[in-house]
Amino acid sequence: MKRMCVTTAVVTVLLAVNLLALAADTPLPEWTPDANVDRPEIPEVYTWDLRPLVADNETWAQRADEAEAMLTALERLRASTDTVSGLASYLKTYFEADELINRITLYANLQRDTHQTDQDIIARHQRALGLTNQLMEEGPVVRRAVLALTAEQISSSPQLAAFRPFLEQLHRRAHAVLGPEAEAVLALAGDNLWAQIDLNELPSASESAFAALMGDLVLPEIIDESGETVRLTFSNYGRFRASEKREVRQGAVAAMFETLKTYENTLAATLAGQAAFDVFLARARGYDTALEAYLDKDNVDPAVYHNLVETVRSRTDLLHRYVTLRKKLLALDSVHLYDLYIPLAQGVDREIPYPEARQIIMTALKPLGPEYGARLATALDPTERWIDLYPSRDKQSGAFSAAAYGVHPYVKMNYQNGYDDMSTLAHELGHTMHSDLAMNAQGPLTWRYPPFLAEIASTCNEMLLSNHMVASAETEKEKAWILSQLTESIRTTIFRQTLFADFELQLHELVEQGRPVTAEALNSIYRNLIEVYYGPDYTIDAGDEVEWAYIPHFYWKYYVYTYATGLTSGIALAERMSHEVPGAVDAYLTMLRAGCSAPPLQSLRDAGVDLTTPKPVNAALDVFERTLDELERLLEP
Ligand SMILES: [Zn+2]
Repeated sequence: MKRMCVTTAVVTVLLAVNLLALAADTPLPEWTPDANVDRPEIPEVYTWDLRPLVADNETWAQRADEAEAMLTALERLRASTDTVSGLASYLKTYFEADELINRITLYANLQRDTHQTDQDIIARHQRALGLTNQLMEEGPVVRRAVLALTAEQISSSPQLAAFRPFLEQLHRRAHAVLGPEAEAVLALAGDNLWAQIDLNELPSASESAFAALMGDLVLPEIIDESGETVRLTFSNYGRFRASEKREVRQGAVAAMFETLKTYENTLAATLAGQAAFDVFLARARGYDTALEAYLDKDNVDPAVYHNLVETVRSRTDLLHRYVTLRKKLLALDSVHLYDLYIPLAQGVDREIPYPEARQIIMTALKPLGPEYGARLATALDPTERWIDLYPSRDKQSGAFSAAAYGVHPYVKMNYQNGYDDMSTLAHELGHTMHSDLAMNAQGPLTWRYPPFLAEIASTCNEMLLSNHMVASAETEKEKAWILSQLTESIRTTIFRQTLFADFELQLHELVEQGRPVTAEALNSIYRNLIEVYYGPDYTIDAGDEVEWAYIPHFYWKYYVYTYATGLTSGIALAERMSHEVPGAVDAYLTMLRAGCSAPPLQSLRDAGVDLTTPKPVNAALDVFERTLDELERLLEP
């Protein structure tokens, strides 16, 4: 019951990393997480302090006025962007506006997240969105002016020196830019290859049709665990698919896939439309394939994609073995899709209150060295107020990490004392430390890490935590449970997402080769993939081949593979650091500090992970193999 922040054990751990932080520690109030309390009841130290972003709401309004004035100034400066000095003035204002708008938008977003129904806060949030949209409208102006520069002007003009990384980044794809008339037509067609924002926020007409159909679609009723008739929905499907009662999960999967089967031709048509659009935009800009075009957007070599798919395919025997192990351990006559989502080992009901999680995470991430540890201690210290820790009535569910240049990152949690909560916290702290290190090492134009590197630091932390929890597990049961969590994480993130990537590539190849994209063709590709990936002990039911039909990620233009490369890299890096490979920690921290100042593959290669080779994928799959060995040893009678 008496859970103060500093226990003796914490002292030992913290001493090694940050003596100063300890001195400032004072006993913290106790708190029992409760999603139904009103926010003011939560002790202030467990909420984030937004004042470093903007002092208060009144100041916020003034800063928003300033941002508006900057946007007006930009409109005026547009006219002179055809000279180097005119462009330099424009860019100066553009990046000042960008930094300010990001900062006030983050303030509004974070407030909104914890006060979903407060009208003043909603209004502030709307105003921030409006400013962001207005700034984004400057995107084409910037691009046009920058692409008109010569390489010589970029490399030698002193007025442009401050913007050089940004200019070079735009120029890297100058080969894919067309003449003004063609560019105007592509913009009207909804070109997303040059979007300033995340691609996934720009739905194509096909994606909108898919989303609308998913919204209209009524799934059948099924029988739940207590024998009651309930309506299956896309949001409760995951829960029923993992039901302990086999007939319930079987019923849910059958109902879902029978429905998808009924609409398979429409769903094939929306997906075909998306793939055709991707190929159209790629070819219009002179790329041979959509894969090349969309990976080039993030400066990633298509070899990474092919290497991932080929290496995972070469080791599907491990997934076959996992299916066989499931069959044996769960005493099933045969393994179906609906048998994949139930836990292999029994859960542990251990409570992990925040003070304990804080101590465990500090210890688990010790392989990252004292410098990382010291900053991590600050992030985890409630009196620093980076973290909004506990749920409350008006707060949105979920967790994230977010940052604006010049201020420490913020972490949103809904911590409820479970193992998953601790793991989520370690994950979000990976993002947080990545942002923090990059921000302190880079300027405002190069600190943001590219999307391709986004899920590496987070999954590396999760992996280190998992290793630590296995090593310090009190019982074999607990150990088996943590290991089974790890196998599921690798199955769903590396094997399943690579299967999706494999499918996405074949889908685009159909279009690129001028072959028809029908439900029949897609079902046949998907069925073949299930056979290859899951192996002989896996039973494919009649509807399984249509699973592709409801996966929204296939509309995200070559995005799914980054889940697999993210976890692969996270595991490979955690392995290097856990085994104390000389220089591994420094190289990793250098990658985190690089932000987007170097091409993502190069940053990662310098950290010891070369994704154009099979080595990191194999290293991650070796971990999967070892985990299976260990699970077999622990669980087999
Ligand atoms: Zn993440």
